Amino acid sequence: VDAVRAVEPRVADAIGAEIQDQRASLKLIASENYASPAVLLAMGNWFSDKYAEGTVGRRFYAGCRNVDTVEALAAEHARELFGAEHAYVQPHSGIDANLVAFWAVLSQRVESPALHRAGVRQVNDLTDEDWAELRRELGNQRLLGMSLDSGGHLTHGFRPNISGKMFDQRSYGTDPATGLVDYDALRATAREFRPLILVAGYSAYPRLVNFRLMREIADEVGATLMVDMAHFAGLVAGKVLTGDFDPVQHAQIVTTTTHKSLRGPRGGMVLCTSELAEHVDRGCPMVLGGPLSHVMAAKAVALAEARRPEFRAYAQQVVDNARALADGLLRRGATLVSGGTDNHLVLIDVSGYGLTGRQAEAALLDSGVVTNRNSVPNDPNGAWYTSGVRIGTPALTTRGLGTAEMDEIADLIDTALRGTAPATTAAGAPSKAQYVLDAQVRDAVAKRAADL
Ligand code: PLP
Repeated sequence: VDAVRAVEPRVADAIGAEIQDQRASLKLIASENYASPAVLLAMGNWFSDKYAEGTVGRRFYAGCRNVDTVEALAAEHARELFGAEHAYVQPHSGIDANLVAFWAVLSQRVESPALHRAGVRQVNDLTDEDWAELRRELGNQRLLGMSLDSGGHLTHGFRPNISGKMFDQRSYGTDPATGLVDYDALRATAREFRPLILVAGYSAYPRLVNFRLMREIADEVGATLMVDMAHFAGLVAGKVLTGDFDPVQHAQIVTTTTHKSLRGPRGGMVLCTSELAEHVDRGCPMVLGGPLSHVMAAKAVALAEARRPEFRAYAQQVVDNARALADGLLRRGATLVSGGTDNHLVLIDVSGYGLTGRQAEAALLDSGVVTNRNSVPNDPNGAWYTSGVRIGTPALTTRGLGTAEMDEIADLIDTALRGTAPATTAAGAPSKAQYVLDAQVRDAVAKRAADL
């Protein structure tokens, strides 16, 4: 930080303040973690200065032998860890990994000369006629993914993301009675819609997904099964999700981030069968810029860490902690989507506390508990205010907290939310954004949170 301070002290201050914030509050955002010093150091070095378009041993730049070493190592660790036939470790983020996967499946599956050319050429080489044909073809391609309010992700065919513009999209959701994926309804939609790609995976679904069943449905309708395991990759790596629940055994293509439960650097990755490998490897330059060699080095370190026995214990503790947190909340009267959890996350329906997700998120932040608001199924408050708060245990488990501390955290959350009420608008109605949090409650919760 001293070297940074000598050039731009405000950045050095911000780095210091960020460490303070992350230490002083309880990080319960389900998609965050703490990467190890080895991972952080592998990222902060001279690999950052190197260009390396292409793949291992086949680069468009000279002098890539060290990049080849780290990219090959990261891919090898990924294949071994997950039992995958092929791994592509260049994606810069989870969204990028999904784009690579979509283009790979399109170029493999769609009988379109234009798409084929797009898959094998640089985008700049496509003619106007190619683009016109591509647009016609893409308009016809169908994608079936989990609805946003059931826990799906924006990249699974929703409007704010290019996937929602590329594909003709439909969603499947959860059964309102159980909060679980309704596989019968999903099968019926798939039979009728006949998607090219069936996407499984989620950002806010607190239960297990049966990927064997998903593959059966995909095969029945001729779809490629793509699983986005961004959230739960650490649980797959740690062998908590096995058999029917291990996506790599069942899907043709699996995407992930590397920075959530997997505890690596901020980035993405694609795992696939050998048939898809050549299409996936064209991710750069089709949809990605030059590989971030320094991040690939850190991915190699993180994946090596995840192959150690300690990581299995970590992954199991993440799930045990989530269950303890859910049980603690339920005992105190909270309402949880699906009534509990089987994975690393819990979704609290905060309407039971008379609050919107936005108010609950802000009141918890004031009290030193960092969470994020999230829609619940059929959310009456929409995606901005929401009625839910999502919490997850990967980060606090890395800090060494166990089930006893989870009960204390359940108490902190419940106490803060009980001490909060919606403010009243000028028209006399309850506000969806403003809130009143009892200052004594706030200070007491913040102190207990800092002590943990
Ligand atoms: N896929 C899922 C399921 C996610 O939850 C997320 C991140 O929230 C992403 C993809 C996108 O990851 P990134 O932010 O690295 O692009």
